Amino acid sequence: MIRYLPKACLFCPEDDCAEELYPRNFKDGDLDADVFSARRVTEHFHYRMVRCKRSGLVWSREVLPDEELARLYAASKVTFSEYAGIIRKDYWRPLERFRKDMRWGSALEIGCSSGFFLEELRERGFADVRGCEPSLEAKALAAPTVRDGIHSGFFTDATYPDDSFDLICAFQTLDHLGDPLAILETCRRKLKPGGLLYLIVHNADALHAKIFGEKSTIIDVEHIYLFNPRALGMAIENAGLDALGTFSIANSYPMEYWLTHASYPLKKTALALARATGLNRLRLPLRLGNIGIVGRKPA
Ligand SMILES: [Zn+2]
Repeated sequence: MIRYLPKACLFCPEDDCAEELYPRNFKDGDLDADVFSARRVTEHFHYRMVRCKRSGLVWSREVLPDEELARLYAASKVTFSEYAGIIRKDYWRPLERFRKDMRWGSALEIGCSSGFFLEELRERGFADVRGCEPSLEAKALAAPTVRDGIHSGFFTDATYPDDSFDLICAFQTLDHLGDPLAILETCRRKLKPGGLLYLIVHNADALHAKIFGEKSTIIDVEHIYLFNPRALGMAIENAGLDALGTFSIANSYPMEYWLTHASYPLKKTALALARATGLNRLRLPLRLGNIGIVGRKPA
């Protein structure tokens, strides 16, 4: 019997803001490490989901305890390396507009997986590139140029000294955390004054989330808190950072990816057709539901 941990709204002190979205749709024994593997084709398990009537924040009302989550993530598999070369470019692009605020010393990525974005940061000119990653398999897949900079484990206050980094990045990570505000606080302390924090998360207000509702890929047991642009800005400012800009992220995956990862009728037929015609290899940049934000630690 699993003891689930209740989760409250991040922003409303009275916790009186929650409206019900969906009931939990799995049994205790259904969860294993495969369910917690990044960007896998989702099983669509999810906890009971609620939404804050004021901020639009969506969250899982009762979740697995942290120790249990840590165990599942450490054993999780890497399932998305074929798209790493595309993702690193897509994630770098929005940073270009913050060049004037950027210093090129030390950078950290929280949840760096196999380190593909660390390679991008190195190639872009960061002198010292670090990562935190709980999945042991992911670190083993990292390129030799970045592997030694990867810490195997979760990002905690003890992992790095304060005032260490010019840039901290976390992609599709904040929505997986049981206490995202505490992590953002820690990020602020680990940034040097004037340093930048760059986050990408799923957009709880995205069109596909509205169309597919409970069947949307973002309604998933891996996601504890799901932000919209407003809630993401609130989270950043709550942590004492100045929000410099919120923006949508274009993902230029091939059709194969979109057809595999979306929820829609006649999926098998559509995939077979696309593969037979070669359409599955067509690259299609879409702004479908990822939002980014850049915040700065006050100097
Ligand atoms: Zn609320």
